[in-house]
Amino acid sequence: MTSLSELGEFGLIKRFSKQFLQKLPRGYTGIGDDCAIIPINEKEVLLVTTDMLIEDSHFLKNKISAFDLGLKSIMVNLSDMAAMGGTPDSAFLSIGLPAGSEIKWIDNFFKGIKSVCDEYGVYLMGGDTTKSPDRVVINIVVIGKGIQSEVKKRSAAKTGDIICVNDFVGDSGAGLRILLENLPQDRDSGWLVKRHNCPRANVKEGQWLAGRKDVHAMMDISDGIESDIHRLMESSNIGAEIELDRVPISAELFRVSAKYSWNVHEIAVTGGEDYCLMFTVAERSVDKILQGYEKEFKRPFYRIGKIKEANAGLIFLYNGRSMALKKHGWDHFK
Ligand code: ADP
Ligand code: MG
Repeated sequence: MTSLSELGEFGLIKRFSKQFLQKLPRGYTGIGDDCAIIPINEKEVLLVTTDMLIEDSHFLKNKISAFDLGLKSIMVNLSDMAAMGGTPDSAFLSIGLPAGSEIKWIDNFFKGIKSVCDEYGVYLMGGDTTKSPDRVVINIVVIGKGIQSEVKKRSAAKTGDIICVNDFVGDSGAGLRILLENLPQDRDSGWLVKRHNCPRANVKEGQWLAGRKDVHAMMDISDGIESDIHRLMESSNIGAEIELDRVPISAELFRVSAKYSWNVHEIAVTGGEDYCLMFTVAERSVDKILQGYEKEFKRPFYRIGKIKEANAGLIFLYNGRSMALKKHGWDHFK
């Protein structure tokens, strides 16, 4: 293997991360989860996450408003914080801008950042500003806190657990497709585009789930269930069975998919950028936890499958029959 495109994003991270994972002090969790975990004291931990967005790779400047781009840039970091059950506290923003950038565009970008900071009680505490040759580059770090005994890792899934997600998936992936294919935006398709450009981090939901002992592993879905379930499987050394007909799909996505003859189940699990939570729950407690969740948030979460032994690999079922998927979730470089 000589080129990065052969190795892929996850292959690369695996390749260099080993040497940095050895000799981590007790209580530290390094590369491999949604946030790094750094102990503060016996009870509390610091949670740190970072994400980078590059123009033409993660967004097209003529397909997203500056405000929405600001909002999304910080929201995707808050989503990683939510995935650990943490409470976000501070953010650092580094931005590379071409010299010809419009001041109005930059002002609106920061308005988007500010709206999220205000909504989630996060302070923008620093960053860096540089000139970029031709494209906008955005990197955000979010720092938060968690309770050591409650923080949820990708590595804690157990055989027999029920796999759940807390929102419809596929809307964002379909929204991106609508943008890329320049499809008309009516009420339904416009909604899907909004779901793509303006995701919502499930911070309160993540914190609530973190407080339940029988919620074992948790992560946010950024690359699509089909890709992200592999991260869970590798971290927890387990297999998984996913029932495609149980994966929650919005009425808007059903209608738009019918209109364009898209395979709605495929979009749902491979679309990516859903930024909702995927978590595993001890089977005996799912009903009770679901009841509590519905009472708290006035909406349900959805059971989509079951954790299996490692040698089972990944199985997709449709109407109880095993099924192969054609498309795969996002992997940069491939
Ligand atoms: P997420 O989608 O939750 O943001 P990623 O798939 O981007 O997570 O990254 C997986 C893990 O690899 C995370 O723990 C992340 O911090 C780590 N990681 C990714 N790129 C790098 C890098 N260049 N150096 C160190 N750690 C990295
Ligand atoms: Mg994540």
